[in-house]
Amino acid sequence: MIDLRSDTVTRPTPDMRRAMAEAEVGDDVYGEDPTINALEEQVAGLLSHEAGLFCPSGSMTNMLGIAAQVPRGWEVLADHRAHILRAECGGHAALAGVTSRTWVSADGTFDAAQALSMVSRPRGYNQVGTAVISVENSHNFGGGRVADIEQLRTLHARTRELGVAVHVDGARIANAAAATGVGLGEYGALADSVSLCLSKGLGAPVGSVLVGSAELIAEARVLRKRYGGGMRQAGILAAAGLWALEHNLERLAEDNAAAARIARAIAEVDPAVVDPDTVDTNIVFIDLGPTGLDAQAYAAATEAAGVRVSVMDEDSVRIVTHLDVSAEDARRAGEILARSLAENA
Ligand SMILES: *Cc1c(COP(=O)(O)O)cnc(C)c1O
Repeated sequence: MIDLRSDTVTRPTPDMRRAMAEAEVGDDVYGEDPTINALEEQVAGLLSHEAGLFCPSGSMTNMLGIAAQVPRGWEVLADHRAHILRAECGGHAALAGVTSRTWVSADGTFDAAQALSMVSRPRGYNQVGTAVISVENSHNFGGGRVADIEQLRTLHARTRELGVAVHVDGARIANAAAATGVGLGEYGALADSVSLCLSKGLGAPVGSVLVGSAELIAEARVLRKRYGGGMRQAGILAAAGLWALEHNLERLAEDNAAAARIARAIAEVDPAVVDPDTVDTNIVFIDLGPTGLDAQAYAAATEAAGVRVSVMDEDSVRIVTHLDVSAEDARRAGEILARSLAENA
């Protein structure tokens, strides 16, 4: 079975498990876990920031990045399909009293002018002010699209003038960097906070890191404890993250290439359901609308043929390539996904 539901389905390899078993650990709530400290420092450095904070999940790093920068009752602006608004149980609102407004991007790409046009500067006591603009790069439910570096530069320059912070949900920022050749450091320098997942394409079993200024991370550290995310000898988990950065960062271009290959195979059979030119990274959305196929039925058919996909709504499915999908798997998956379209149309 080729499992393309998500890049979170990878399992730690024996080498990674060995690194975990041998990790030097301490009580991280006391700041005494050397492996966590090393991971936080390394990710902060990679993304051009002063400090990092290791958390159990990307939902928590996003939550803390936003909660540390948005006062209660203020707002975060984000894309209408943003993970922070669609897939994190409303945490920013439920836990931190943060409100939100969204812009609508047709194709998952980021338009700085569109986001900036929504910034609200409160004039009366009743108006909600914008504290943070959140950009997801790459954009998961936007089809894995990458935010253009020029748009990010414009956003960075203009938000400095406006006194608004930029948070990047960079769960897959390393896939974006692999696709564009823009360095992680360059992406990081254009944001006030960045959340990076170790448990997606990098293949670690657990963990995400939030980076920002020393001051921001100190505040986020307090909030992490408040939300119950203070862990003890979690260097065992951080060791998997360090191992992943060392061994799995450089290979992300392969996942992007595998996704492109699958998209091309499908488009050859039906160009209406996917446009390979819009596949920037390791995510492909198949729009079944033009075929009249029901997404559940299509997913059942591909699964019977050996490929698992994620049903996103009635007429679209998502596939995500990852560490455990070889080039040969990608070839076979493309064939099966294309054939299942033709056979069930
Ligand atoms: C996976 C993901 C996250 C974090 O998810 P967790 O399951 O909480 O680790 C955040 N943002 C995006 C875009 C993601 O894809």
